[in-house]
Amino acid sequence: MEQISIIGAGHAGTLLAVGLAGAGYDVRLFSDKDAEGIRDQTSPTGTAAIFADSVATEIRLGAADYSGQGAPMDAVHLFFSPKVGQELIAFGSPLEEAAGLATDVRLKSYDRMKQLAALGGDIQIETVSMDRLDQIAAESALTVVATGKGGLSSLFPRDAARSMYDAPQRKLAMILVRGIASDGTAFSNRLPGMTPVCFNLFGGAGEIFWVPFLHKSGEQVWSLVFEARPGGPFDRWDTVTDIHQAFATAKALIQEFVPWDWPAMANMEPLLDDPFSWLTGAFAPSVRTGSGVTSGGHPVMSLGDTSVSYDPICGQGAGSGIRQVGQYFDAILARGDRSFDREWIDEVFEAFYSSHIEGTYRFTNTFLEPLTPTGVRVMTAAFADPRLRGPLLKSFNRPPSAFPWLAEKTETDKWITHHTGRSAASVVARGNAKALGAMIKNTVKGENFPRAEATEIPSRMLARNS
Ligand SMILES: Cc1cc2nc3c(=O)[nH]c(=O)nc-3n(C[C@H](O)[C@H](O)[C@H](O)COP(=O)(O)OP(=O)(O)OC[C@H]3O[C@@H](n4cnc5c(N)ncnc54)[C@H](O)[C@@H]3O)c2cc1C
Repeated sequence: MEQISIIGAGHAGTLLAVGLAGAGYDVRLFSDKDAEGIRDQTSPTGTAAIFADSVATEIRLGAADYSGQGAPMDAVHLFFSPKVGQELIAFGSPLEEAAGLATDVRLKSYDRMKQLAALGGDIQIETVSMDRLDQIAAESALTVVATGKGGLSSLFPRDAARSMYDAPQRKLAMILVRGIASDGTAFSNRLPGMTPVCFNLFGGAGEIFWVPFLHKSGEQVWSLVFEARPGGPFDRWDTVTDIHQAFATAKALIQEFVPWDWPAMANMEPLLDDPFSWLTGAFAPSVRTGSGVTSGGHPVMSLGDTSVSYDPICGQGAGSGIRQVGQYFDAILARGDRSFDREWIDEVFEAFYSSHIEGTYRFTNTFLEPLTPTGVRVMTAAFADPRLRGPLLKSFNRPPSAFPWLAEKTETDKWITHHTGRSAASVVARGNAKALGAMIKNTVKGENFPRAEATEIPSRMLARNS
């Protein structure tokens, strides 16, 4: 079999390596750290929560199935405040067949490097330079670069026509914590009996959310993510340099801005036994090219964050990388007599761009921007009518499926009527009345924060907790 070289042992590179080695390919994986180094000496690149389709792709390619090892990410719930302190909308829904999980990417890389070695793959520990990449590409039938947002990504120019931003839209922070229940009892103010992604979206300030997370040690913890609009009230991370400061900053922001969840989180603690369990940073969400050319003229292929970096607001980066691996794996196996030339690489990337990246990047950016009138219409309607909540929140599993109904009013109205059997105008009017009622109630009571009732979950959906 031809030799395929993969640079970068993140979850995307290692998944492709394991898949191809399992299919009989001669795989070389180049990593700047060995498996123990990734597991023990790095931070996870992100929360990397993935939904059902991505979980299925990992399993199809022969990687470990972590479902059942920790709490499932079985629902999504959101509070939306157009201004800090002003309630407008709150709702959630079980994800049912779209449910997924967040597993520490350090554990995935570690497990897959061991699996690759057992499958006979060749693992080389070195930081690949541009010159070395040229050499590797000259020796290999195909070379795939999966070195994340940094690394060798500069070989793949940012596509200005496809990239909406040339500057970071949020300053990001993430910290893992223990001490929050993950048996479905913690967020009963949102979705009793479930372990949801808990979103808090604040117009003008940014977003704050929690995700149930399987730590590399096997312990079920929670990942807290902070997305701060630069200069806004959540933008407090620039001076954070250690886990203690990260935890103190997270705690202060939650107490101040998300007091409705604080009772569930009051016992949380940082993972002092994992000093890498936090991160801060910022990057411009960008689409790069699918192919690059080394100094000696050899074509190479981008993968994962090296191809596209999404803001984490909708939790799509890791999932996109997994689907890309799935599509690339299929294309490699289906290639027949064709060589892995630049034309083939571009064709495979373009197919993935149109089937997944384009819609996912657009979906993610919709939530980075102030909500459009159509976006507000969708949210208001879902606030009014529970039948819209599942279809809306399950679109996180297949973001391109949210278009055109998330962006075009005529299509939005058809979508509302399709799922509710009622006229869109009447559903939206009910949602507006409900939001107004809540605002008046809060004003009268002098309360500034969401006081939405918890969403009732039908008992059949709670079977896993019984
Ligand atoms: C705060 C935050 C939250 C997130 N939450 C989510 C979420 O909930 N859901 C989701 O789907 N996505 C999420 N993401 C995005 C997700 O984490 C990333 O998209 C994903 O982990 C990227 O994986 P990767 O394998 O492409 O790259 P990486 O994880 O960056 O892996 C690249 C690897 O290549 C190695 N490397 C780099 N240069 C070289 C070199 N020259 N030679 C050899 N090796 C090299 C690196 O050390 C690393 O091991 C989040 C991101 C952030 C920042």
